[in-house]
Amino acid sequence: MKTLKIFDTDAFVDTNEATILTCEKSNKEGYEDCYEVITDSTIFAPEGGGQKCDEGFFGESIVKDVQEIDGEIIHFLENEIKAGTKVLQKIDMNLRFRRMQNHNAEHLICGLIHKKFGYDNVGFHLSELRRDDGSIVSIEAIMDVDGPVSAEALKEIEMKANVAISENVPIYAILPSSEEAEKISYRSKLDISENLRLVIIDGYDVCACCAPCLDSSAQIQLVKIVDFFPHRGGMRLTLKAGIDAVKDYIALHDDNKNTMKILSCERGRCAEAAERMNVKLTEAHEEKVSLKRQITVMLEKELKNTIRMQGSKYIVYFADSIDEIQARALINDNVAEAEKVIVVMFDKKDDTYRFVAGKNENLTDILLRELAYKMRENLNARGGGSEQMIQGSVTSDGETIKKFFDSL
Ligand SMILES: [Zn+2]
Repeated sequence: MKTLKIFDTDAFVDTNEATILTCEKSNKEGYEDCYEVITDSTIFAPEGGGQKCDEGFFGESIVKDVQEIDGEIIHFLENEIKAGTKVLQKIDMNLRFRRMQNHNAEHLICGLIHKKFGYDNVGFHLSELRRDDGSIVSIEAIMDVDGPVSAEALKEIEMKANVAISENVPIYAILPSSEEAEKISYRSKLDISENLRLVIIDGYDVCACCAPCLDSSAQIQLVKIVDFFPHRGGMRLTLKAGIDAVKDYIALHDDNKNTMKILSCERGRCAEAAERMNVKLTEAHEEKVSLKRQITVMLEKELKNTIRMQGSKYIVYFADSIDEIQARALINDNVAEAEKVIVVMFDKKDDTYRFVAGKNENLTDILLRELAYKMRENLNARGGGSEQMIQGSVTSDGETIKKFFDSL
């Protein structure tokens, strides 16, 4: 059974009346609930050549998948449709068009790289980002070539491809016999001799391909190489084309506009302005580190005075804006000579302090774990620790905290 592949030569037919030739329950893994349907003609391109199958319906029945198996195009449907029935096939042309824009852009870029460097295309797939409901967010083409290309050369190729788009040259597919094929020079990932189909971008590229193609280069609209890096001795390129490239441009433009506002700079100067800001940030950070160091030294001095001044077994020190490292340093540097429990309340946010408390190990009559328990009971504290140091948070005001420690 040979199904007429309408998409081979006309990719813009989005409805087709087909006759069911066979419809059999599937035993393919994952498709046990489906029927495998073969028709006399089809507009559904099967999965292959780096892209997924077309999406659409047979009448009201959704087509779950389309695969080419042993030369037959098999449509996977949930409903049984008797052989001999005529059905109306309908595909999602919007999805196909976006795929063709990206796929033919890849042909154009590969063709230009092949012409300039003689490299071959050794990998290709369309990457599709979808929402939870299955609708497409974006499509991009990912392709590998088997040789290195500099960033400069890629820029040149990208410009040439966009010139080819503006020239509106024809794109078409031919199905040459093996004798005819011998006389044609074309790119191919595989050594195909039978059922060869060539997609031609007039004057730019001839490539063996099984996917539906556009009618003219102008339909590609725009191509942008959005990423490239060395890969297995060659290069991996990511392209965006057509409506996906336009959408990307709009999104990047909005982002750039916001960045210009934040950096107070002109169009095209964001990187420069960001670099200047980076230098300023580094300087500010160094200044902050130095100031923190000075504050710690001052706090330690002050703490030593406080230790000498207070008579109780507890020294409660409020240092709202220091961080945990500084708080711990204050305790570690002073417990040895303090002969008291040192409690540092720090990092105040609203009514909550973080705290660290430590003691000299000779102070055996005060148990820090017991203190943590009392703090939980009286100060809305959370946390705990060892017999040498406890830490956590306290949600109480300064007066309540002071009164609590005075009462101990
Ligand atoms: Zn192709």
